[in-house]
Amino acid sequence: MKRASKTTRALRRAYDLMYSAHGHQHWWPGDTPFEICVGAILTQNTAWTNVEKAIANLKRAKAISVRRIHELPHAELAELIRPAGYFNIKADRLKCFVQVLVKDHNSSLKKLFNGQTPAIRERLLNIKGIGPETADSMLLYAGDHHSFVIDAYTKRIFQRHHWWKGEGDQGKAKAHNASEYDSLQRLCENSLTHKPEDQLLDYWQDYHAQIVVVGKDYCKTRNPDCEHCPLKEFLPNRKTQAGRLIPTIPALHPNSKTT
Ligand code: SF4
Repeated sequence: MKRASKTTRALRRAYDLMYSAHGHQHWWPGDTPFEICVGAILTQNTAWTNVEKAIANLKRAKAISVRRIHELPHAELAELIRPAGYFNIKADRLKCFVQVLVKDHNSSLKKLFNGQTPAIRERLLNIKGIGPETADSMLLYAGDHHSFVIDAYTKRIFQRHHWWKGEGDQGKAKAHNASEYDSLQRLCENSLTHKPEDQLLDYWQDYHAQIVVVGKDYCKTRNPDCEHCPLKEFLPNRKTQAGRLIPTIPALHPNSKTT
């Protein structure tokens, strides 16, 4: 059998370390697949704590269903999701999403998610306001499809450990970023296939959740807390003046996003 590459081995070991440090994350938070899809749209460009407030508002108003979001006037929906930020744009995106569900899939998420993963992904990407990260979050967590989610944390952590080089100037065009997304997704999907078929979905779901925990709690853009991070064994150590060994904090690519 062919031996896995160094990067592949590192990616697999990284999960074990993150899992040992934090336990299973049981992602994505949401009572139903539809709520997960709503959350995936609301979380664009905002912290999850704000999404929770918006979802609580929707629940209080009994508005977290395909029919209710479809029927609610735009202004009312926008007001309910105000805590998630960009509320007018996100109300628009929610409306577009449910419009497709109602019109093309008889209001059924099951029908939307029925079929081959690439075709459904394409279906989602054709809905206004749904990009690759949102589509893959819906597929992986609401649709139980094997579609690895890539986000800014994944990019930062992978670059800092030289598991992925990026593709040059990341600040440039959107299309370029899309090709970076695809290349990083390919790397993950090709490397993380060693689990039995019936465990793979849960593994990919939890892998992304673990990355988010590490990105939020340790791997900040400035001053990453490598010393306490579960992934520090992948960094070369340096000696302090007091003779203590501490991990070398790696530099980010100069053009990396500072999210
Ligand atoms: S905080 Fe340091 S050790 Fe942890 S993922 Fe980031 S660069 Fe790696």
